[in-house]
Amino acid sequence: MMTDITYDIVAGTKLQEMGANFYAAKIAGKNFVAEYFSGAKKIALSMGIGRAPEEKKDSLRRRLTDLFSVHEGDVQFDDHCACLMIPIEQDWVSRLNGIMDSMSHWADENELTGGCFFCGRSGATVSVCEVGGVYSFLCGACREKLNREYSASLEEANKQKLVAPALAAFTSGRRKIGYLAALGAGFVASLAWLLIIIYMPLTWIFGTIATTLFVNCVYEAYKRVSGQFSIFDFLVTTLMSIAILMVSVTFAFSHSLSVAWNMVADPSEYVTSLAVFTNLPQIISFPLFGFLFVSICIPTVIGLLIGIGYRYRKER
Ligand SMILES: [Zn+2]
Repeated sequence: MMTDITYDIVAGTKLQEMGANFYAAKIAGKNFVAEYFSGAKKIALSMGIGRAPEEKKDSLRRRLTDLFSVHEGDVQFDDHCACLMIPIEQDWVSRLNGIMDSMSHWADENELTGGCFFCGRSGATVSVCEVGGVYSFLCGACREKLNREYSASLEEANKQKLVAPALAAFTSGRRKIGYLAALGAGFVASLAWLLIIIYMPLTWIFGTIATTLFVNCVYEAYKRVSGQFSIFDFLVTTLMSIAILMVSVTFAFSHSLSVAWNMVADPSEYVTSLAVFTNLPQIISFPLFGFLFVSICIPTVIGLLIGIGYRYRKER
């Protein structure tokens, strides 16, 4: 159990508890860090060293093999650190103490006393500290550098989390389906809207209400299907609603419009836009346009403004 391990280490060795499963000590000028791996039931012991030539590394391996029957492969070297895995077995505390003494003597004999686990520098700034959940002896410069790299990597990981490609694709996929749903709902609702506009009396009242309901039907369809409603979505669905209404009116009155048009312009003649504009008063004075303007345009514009304003206040 972990608490027992901590008790045994703190009571039985010079190592002190630093954080969860981490212990450290400065023993006879040597820097030791031990990490307990509960799953593997092993302790990883590290000691700071100077840059050691291969034959000296071999001499430490032989010494630990001879004295503590450690497998030679279990002794590893980083540039400025010697590491060893020690299983939690019978008498592991006295074994741990013996190994630390032995490593310490080896460092003294070979003048390999180290400091910072990363650069080997020794001095007043070297102390045990935690970077990214791992404890080690570090000099001031290495501590700063590692902390910087660690926060940069954290930041990078967070950034990737935020704009994870799958998530972005999912959101834009929902948006596309939302626009399709709004378009479909808009065309269906526009049929009902047309029937009300054409057949209901008092278009000033019913046409206005119908347009307000129509535009909110488009908003609601988009919002429900896409699960979002940003200001951008609001603008797009508003323009979509206006376009659907224009298409519906043109479709419903296309025949009447072409009849009206033929009365002012000869269909066999090529008519320029300028000619259309010069004939505009004549076209507008045609009774159909009076009906379109008074019974459709005005209630539609008022209904749209009410619908847009209502939804804007509701969403803000
Ligand atoms: Zn350093």
